[in-house]
Amino acid sequence: MPQATPAGWTNWAGNQSARPSRVVTPASTAELTEVVRRAAEEGRTVKAVGSGHSFTAIASAGDGVLVRPHGLTAVHELDREAGTVTVGSGLPLSGLNRLLAAAGLSLTNMGDIEVQTVAGATSTGTHGTGRDSGSLAAQIRALEIVLADGSVRQCSPTEHAELFEGARLGLGALGVVSAITFGVEPSFLLTAHEKPMSFGEVLAGFDDFAAVNEHFEFYWFPHTDRCSTKRNNRSQGPAAPLSGFKAWLDDEFLANTVFGGLCQVGLRLPQAVPTIAQVAGRALSERTFTDLAYKVFTSPRKVRFVEMEYAVPREAATTVLRELKALVERSRWRISFPVEVRTAPADDLWLSTASGRDTVYIAVHLYRGTAERGYFTEVERLMTAHEGRPHWGKLHTRDAAYLASVYPHFGDFTALRDQVDPGRLFGNDYLRRVLGE
Ligand SMILES: Cc1cc2nc3c(=O)[nH]c(=O)nc-3n(C[C@H](O)[C@H](O)[C@H](O)COP(=O)(O)OP(=O)(O)OC[C@H]3O[C@@H](n4cnc5c(N)ncnc54)[C@H](O)[C@@H]3O)c2cc1C
Repeated sequence: MPQATPAGWTNWAGNQSARPSRVVTPASTAELTEVVRRAAEEGRTVKAVGSGHSFTAIASAGDGVLVRPHGLTAVHELDREAGTVTVGSGLPLSGLNRLLAAAGLSLTNMGDIEVQTVAGATSTGTHGTGRDSGSLAAQIRALEIVLADGSVRQCSPTEHAELFEGARLGLGALGVVSAITFGVEPSFLLTAHEKPMSFGEVLAGFDDFAAVNEHFEFYWFPHTDRCSTKRNNRSQGPAAPLSGFKAWLDDEFLANTVFGGLCQVGLRLPQAVPTIAQVAGRALSERTFTDLAYKVFTSPRKVRFVEMEYAVPREAATTVLRELKALVERSRWRISFPVEVRTAPADDLWLSTASGRDTVYIAVHLYRGTAERGYFTEVERLMTAHEGRPHWGKLHTRDAAYLASVYPHFGDFTALRDQVDPGRLFGNDYLRRVLGE
């Protein structure tokens, strides 16, 4: 959870900070309403934060009132018949996963980690990879939100439907979400098959891999021809998790401790990075395991980095990836972090990066403290040349004019914002840039 104290707030990556005038931890919707009313009376802005895992300043409270998530973590209702669970907006995904598992239930899809709060994750469109299933926000069935005038709205496709459309993935711009209802399903096992392949092989087979597997993704190691592919598919079992030692060796020791050490070396000796990448790429071995879905989807990320991720139209993906590889090869950059590639089906959320189009996500990372030297700038130029949409929580430089041109429902969202928050009680510098004044 983030480091929000009266002395200040910083995000996980350490690249964003704020000095709010007040830090509050409401423990009920009624208390949250009071927080919002008082701030409005005092002319202060309000910003709810999650776990601080966004790289952009989207969660920055500036000098306004910062709402911590820790008091809003209750489980309100688990309705097996309807296949839904309703929880407080500040509950971390890890808590949700465990409570669902104990009840024999599961989310359908999720991203790489489970430390974000449910409202924090959904507000920026956090996603994993999927052929048929989309982001966490796409799994929302209803929500409760406190608006700028202090009113509380229950929203669903049949109640305040327009607010529901916007607030499922609302960038924290429409109000403070107090509770979220997710659609859930009986818990299931996934078999993960991880296999090293060459860049050429992966790109040649990409359409097939993405069509045949329920969840396909791959990592490409810059300065090499090597990729690590991952296919996750539902399994009838039995469960065959990695042994405690193997899980520690691969996911804790190699992926975090050793990788973090190599990144440190790369920071001091940038010329060694291509060799490190070759070694890291070669160290990957094929492995298969079967476990509960959330344990396969997520893993710990301890090495601190900054990230940019763009969603490009599915049909442009292999072209963009080839251009990205050529860009890295032409450059003098030294990139120690792999590029992550995932997919999502088109969805209908107004500000979802997959809104209205089948999507491929391409994410680039830099070890925290690495000089940028134009890597993100050039990658962003490439992505925007293909109508890329930036992840709302990951670094980018786009503004409202650009975003309006790549989101068909952008105007619907800003009109709704004008209606429910005309005074910009929930505004901050980031929202001014991406949504306009
Ligand atoms: C190590 C790491 C791994 C990641 N992996 C993935 C991944 O696999 N897939 C992916 O898509 N992204 C990923 N991300 C990005 C991350 O999931 C998003 O940035 C997410 O929004 C962070 O959630 P959070 O709880 O930390 O929210 P914060 O970053 O604290 O806040 C995000 C937004 O949510 C708003 N918000 C929070 N609570 C409320 C509320 N109650 N009501 C209204 N608005 C609210 C904030 O105001 C802000 O606008 C990763 C980030 C890191 C650091």
